[in-house]
Amino acid sequence: MEIFEHLGKYNYQQVVFCNDNSTGLKAIIAIHDTTLGPALGGVRMWPFPSEEAALEDVLRLARGMTYKASISGVNLGGGKSVVIGDPNTQKTEALLRAMGRFINSLGGKYIAGQDIGTDSHDMAVIVHETPFVSCVHQKAGGPGDPSFATAFGVKAGMQALLKESLGSDSLSDRRIAIQGVGNVGYFVAKYCHEEGAKIIASDVSEEALKRAKDEFDAEIVDPDNIYEVDCDIFSPCAFGAVVNDETISMFKCKGIAGSANNVLAEDRHGIALQERGILYGPDYLVNSGGLIRCEEEVLGEVLKDRVLEKVSRIYDQTLQVIQKAKEGGISTAKAADRLAEERIEKICAINRIWAE
Ligand code: NAD
Repeated sequence: MEIFEHLGKYNYQQVVFCNDNSTGLKAIIAIHDTTLGPALGGVRMWPFPSEEAALEDVLRLARGMTYKASISGVNLGGGKSVVIGDPNTQKTEALLRAMGRFINSLGGKYIAGQDIGTDSHDMAVIVHETPFVSCVHQKAGGPGDPSFATAFGVKAGMQALLKESLGSDSLSDRRIAIQGVGNVGYFVAKYCHEEGAKIIASDVSEEALKRAKDEFDAEIVDPDNIYEVDCDIFSPCAFGAVVNDETISMFKCKGIAGSANNVLAEDRHGIALQERGILYGPDYLVNSGGLIRCEEEVLGEVLKDRVLEKVSRIYDQTLQVIQKAKEGGISTAKAADRLAEERIEKICAINRIWAE
């Protein structure tokens, strides 16, 4: 990768390479944009196949966080970090604390959180080295995992899609197919079940499936068959790129909204969904509930009711995106990008006036 060419293309502010021989830490912190506030994003620990793959991932994810914060009205910037390594075998207290010292050295420009391969217990270790960390476990005095808030926002996004496609946002008797009933997917199932929806679930974890079946009477389907389930909403809550050339013709749903990032394998799949009459709830909008919870944490106090009230605004924001897509004859994914960019451009313009 021509690094500066790539950084210039999307205007990244800062990329920090972190190395610590004593703990084996090899990490990258990427700060994309801090126009709206300090850059907040999770620490992802993963055995990336190459350093280039790690760099590509952290840059893509940091930029995604800028868009997520912008569209959801959060006053934070976009950042992310990756630790290269297997979280099951290479994650140690010393390594996490070394990472914490690097985060601290940025003086608050980057605020860490949990992500794939890290959890709120890990944030409770990092907090010994820096105050610039969110999602610290309750036992260490923090508010813990924000998955409940993410799921609440996914549910709000789903309801907006139902409102647009069926004229009612009621979840009663709706069929919701959830791919992955882990941290977020579990709460998506719970909230939808509480409002009378029928849950169809797939997962590779027997334990996760058992919980969904026991608690929500979920119908279980094989992971390969989840895409073609006859349902109202398909909710990807496991991994990204699940709307792709292979799956696009399989969907029998009216809308797609889930917690996974980068659900569309490519931009053109957003248009393909539109052509098939399937409404797409842009991933970084409908999954922004966790970030909204983290913003409350950064502001000082997490009150669950206030978090859920703020997260519920994702319903109106999704309807706004759908309206913009209709007016512009563009996909909802593209409409979301434009709204996110417009907010940042406006703030930049104000900042320029103040600087003059
Ligand atoms: P998780 O690991 O708790 O849950 C993912 C679930 O998917 C697990 O139960 C796993 O067994 C299952 N899974 C794995 N492969 C599968 C397959 N082939 N088919 C079906 N299920 C499969 O993760 P999470 O915290 O719930 O996050 C889910 C997704 O949402 C991730 O992509 C994450 O990046 C994204 N996300 C999470 C949050 C949050 O607040 N946790 C916020 C924003 C985005």
